[in-house]
Amino acid sequence: MRKVLVIEDEKEISDLLEIHLTDLNCQVTKANDGKVGLDLAINEQFDLIVLDIMLPNLDGIEICKEVRKREIYVPILMLTAKSEEFDKVLGLEIGADDYLTKPFSIREFIARVKAIFRRVDAVQKTDIDNTIINVGDLKIDVQKRRVILNGERVELTQKEFDLLLLMATHPGRTYTREQLLNTVWGYQYNGYEHTVNSHINRLRTKIEDDLSNPKFIRTSWGVGYWFNDSLEN
Ligand code: CA
Repeated sequence: MRKVLVIEDEKEISDLLEIHLTDLNCQVTKANDGKVGLDLAINEQFDLIVLDIMLPNLDGIEICKEVRKREIYVPILMLTAKSEEFDKVLGLEIGADDYLTKPFSIREFIARVKAIFRRVDAVQKTDIDNTIINVGDLKIDVQKRRVILNGERVELTQKEFDLLLLMATHPGRTYTREQLLNTVWGYQYNGYEHTVNSHINRLRTKIEDDLSNPKFIRTSWGVGYWFNDSLEN
C-alpha cells in the first residue's frame, strides 16, 4: 500500500483527494498547516506528497525546498491556484515532480498520480539482488540512493540520480532525450528536452574523469545517451 501525504488547507479538496486516493489503494495522511505538513514530510516516509502552495504558517514552495534540502526524494505533486506564479521552470528548480492548477478535475488528478507512480516504478525497477550496482570504479547503492566513485561519495541531485540509475540498470540501451524526459520527469515536461542535456552534463562533471571521452554515460550522436555496457563489474 502506498502512503500519500496531502498538505492542503481547503478541507473540501483534501477530503475529496483522500476519497480518490483511498480508491487507488493509498493510505492517506492529511495536514492542513504548512509547518505540520513539513514535519510529517521529514519524519515519516511517504510514496507521494500532494502539496498545496498557499498554506498557513509555511508555503508549499518552502516545504518543497526544505524536503529536497534534506535529500528526501519522495515525489511531490504541487497544487497551484491560477493566480499564483508557478510554472514548469520553477517546478524543475525546486524539485517538484508535477503540478496541477486549480480547479482541476479528479480524473486529471488521478491520471497525474498514476503517472508519478508508474515513473517511480520504472526508475526503481531493478533486480532485487541488484540493490548495489558496481560498474568499474562506480558503485550505485539503490536502496540508500548513494553513488560512490573510487571510494568517495558523489553528491547527486534527485534527478541526476534517477537518470544515472535508469541508464545504469539498462546498460547498452540508447535513450532519446524525450524518453529520458518522460521517464524521469514525466510527459508534462515535453518540450524541455534541453533540461535532459543540462542534467546529463552536470552528472558527467560529477562522475566522469574525461568529459571529452566519457566512460560511463556515452552519447549517441543525434539520438541520445546510453550507459557503457563494456565496463567490468
Ligand atoms: Ca491553500
